[in-house]
Amino acid sequence: MLPIETTQTRVITQFKRVIAADQLSQSYIFAGPAGVGKMQVAQWLAMRLFCLNVQDGSPCGECAECQRILSHNHPDVVTISTEDKTIKVDAIRELKQEMSKSGMEGNQRVFIINDADKMTTGASNSLLKFYEEPVANTLVILLTSAKNRLLPTILSRAQMITFLPADASRIEASLVDEGIARNVARFASRMANEPAQALALAQDEAFNAQLTAVDQLLNKVAKRDLEAFIQVQSQLLPIAKNTTDQAQLLTLIALTYQLAMRHHYQLNEIESGAVNALSQQSGAQLADQTAAVLVAQQQLDQNVSFQSDLEQLILKLIG
Ligand SMILES: [Zn+2]
Repeated sequence: MLPIETTQTRVITQFKRVIAADQLSQSYIFAGPAGVGKMQVAQWLAMRLFCLNVQDGSPCGECAECQRILSHNHPDVVTISTEDKTIKVDAIRELKQEMSKSGMEGNQRVFIINDADKMTTGASNSLLKFYEEPVANTLVILLTSAKNRLLPTILSRAQMITFLPADASRIEASLVDEGIARNVARFASRMANEPAQALALAQDEAFNAQLTAVDQLLNKVAKRDLEAFIQVQSQLLPIAKNTTDQAQLLTLIALTYQLAMRHHYQLNEIESGAVNALSQQSGAQLADQTAAVLVAQQQLDQNVSFQSDLEQLILKLIG
C-alpha cells in the first residue's frame, strides 16, 4: 500500500469510489495546508489512471508507468510548479498547448498545477478557457494552500477536495479502518505521530497488555478503591520491567487523564472505561491528578524506583 493511502484515507477512498463509478470530474482543486499530501494524492490519481497493475482500486507504485509518474518523467502527466512568486500567463498558455495535443501514449492526460493560487489574473483567465472548452480525457488538478486567492470563476468550475492534516484523530480513524479497536486506536495514535508507527504499536501485544492493565488500574482509582495500590505490584510491575516500558506505562496513564479532562469539558465524544470513569470528577480534581502524573513522570526520569514512584502516584490519585 502506498503511504498516502494511510495518511489521506478519506480522500483516497473517495476517489476509489468515484473512479469505480466512472464519475471522475475533469478538474479538481486540492485545498489544504502544506505538507498534508496534496501532491501525493495528485500523483496517486495519475498513477491510478496509468498503472498497468491496479489492484483493489489502488495503483501498484512499482510498474514502469507508476515509476515514471513518481519520478516526474511521464510524458502525459505534466506538472507546473514554481519557486517564483507568481505563475504567469505564459506558463498556462504552454500548458494549454500541451493539452491541445492528444496523449502521446493513449488518450488520458493529467495536468497538475502546484500552488495554483500563485496564478496571476491573466493566467487564471487563460486557464478558464479550458473550462469553457474542456478537452476529453484531460484531468486538471489545482493544488493550493490558499484557496481564497483563487478566482471565484475557477472555484466554481472545479470540484473542491479539502485536505485535513494527518493529526491524531485522522491516524486514529485510519487505524480503525485497519480493524483496530477504537480504544486501542485512540491511544496508539496519540503515542505515535506517524501512521505506520501507530499501527505497529496498536498491533503490539505488550502495548495492548499495558493498555488493559492501565485501564483496570485507573477504573479502580476512579472508584477510590485501595485495591489499585495492590495492582501496582501484581499487574503493572510484571509488564513494565525496563525503563522504556515503564515510561510508556506512565505516558498511558497521563494520556488517560488528558482524555478524561477533555471528556469532562465535553471536547471529545463518547468515551468508555477509565477515561469515562475519571471524567466524572471535578475539573479541579482532574487538574491536580494530571499534575501528580507529571511529577511521577519526572521522578522516573530522575531514577526513582518505578515501584515506589507508581505507588506514591496511586496514593495521590486516590487521596
Ligand atoms: Zn503501477
